[in-house]
Amino acid sequence: HTRNTGSLVQIYQPELDVNTVERLNLINDLVQAIPANQFELYFQPKLCMTSRRVKHVEALVRWKHPTLGMIPPDNFISIAEKTGQIEALTRWVFTAALIQCKKWNALGLEINMAINISAENLKEPDFYDFVCHTIDEQNISPNQVTLEVTESSVVGDTDAAIQLLSKFKDYGLKISIDDYGTGYSSLAQLKQLPVHELKIDKSFIQRLEKDVDDQIIVRSTIDLAHNMGLKVVAEGIEDEYSLTWLSDYACNYAQGYFISRPKPASELTPWLLNPPC
Ligand code: C2E
Ligand code: CA
Ligand code: CA
Ligand code: CA
Repeated sequence: HTRNTGSLVQIYQPELDVNTVERLNLINDLVQAIPANQFELYFQPKLCMTSRRVKHVEALVRWKHPTLGMIPPDNFISIAEKTGQIEALTRWVFTAALIQCKKWNALGLEINMAINISAENLKEPDFYDFVCHTIDEQNISPNQVTLEVTESSVVGDTDAAIQLLSKFKDYGLKISIDDYGTGYSSLAQLKQLPVHELKIDKSFIQRLEKDVDDQIIVRSTIDLAHNMGLKVVAEGIEDEYSLTWLSDYACNYAQGYFISRPKPASELTPWLLNPPC
């Protein structure tokens, strides 16, 4: 390693090399991941606290890479967002999720399907048409579909986001604000947003038993949401303590490994037909 010329120092850092090469490979591999049928959907239930039943499920994408194995979405969604590939990926996810929704309908399981949407998708001129067309094509009722948009994706460009989300709401879709509490939206913005539900980020839920600050944040978020006429989902519930605590404070829906990990449809269908909780 030659370390005496300023610019080379950067280039010869072994860690940087590996990451950059891996990243470039992933970008290339992503291009053919849809045609090669390497994406798969897992589904994670949202338990209704009052009825103790599951009528809501979130679709979470997985990439089964031929040589690297299962790649978690945190490792490729941001790449897909930066390279423009999120458009095709979201459309694949959306279509596959609605096909599954239809299969569950046929089994008498009326499940509302939540789909994660990136900020980039909200900027596509024909995204609204794609969504309505696909819902129509799959013969799904719009109120069986929830769009999960992150808090940070609606704070930046509020006017455009509000307009589009209002159109979706008018069409009958449910809108959920994901990762709530991490995106610095103001109350004024929240009031304007056409949303049905706030999803409290798992970082506030995971230490609920030990962290009094988190308890205060979660309690006030639940109260705030309810006062604004919104439902609340808590994600990342990993133990009984948190589940009971959230139920006591009237949180509407619970999601997390303690209830069920995300599973492929083949495993979740028997679970939905015969829920263990
Ligand atoms: P998210 O939408 O906030 O989803 C929650 C993440 O937490 C999921 O990770 C889920 O598997 C995980 N999780 C659920 N319960 C627990 C728990 O009890 N404890 C812990 N520690 N984690 C739990 P996953 O599936 O790896 O997805 C990560 C993120 O990738 C998602 O966060 C979402 O932002 C993004 N993502 C996943 N699928 C899609 C997709 O189809 N489209 C887009 N645009 N983003 C997606
Ligand atoms: Ca989500
Ligand atoms: Ca989250
Ligand atoms: Ca997230």
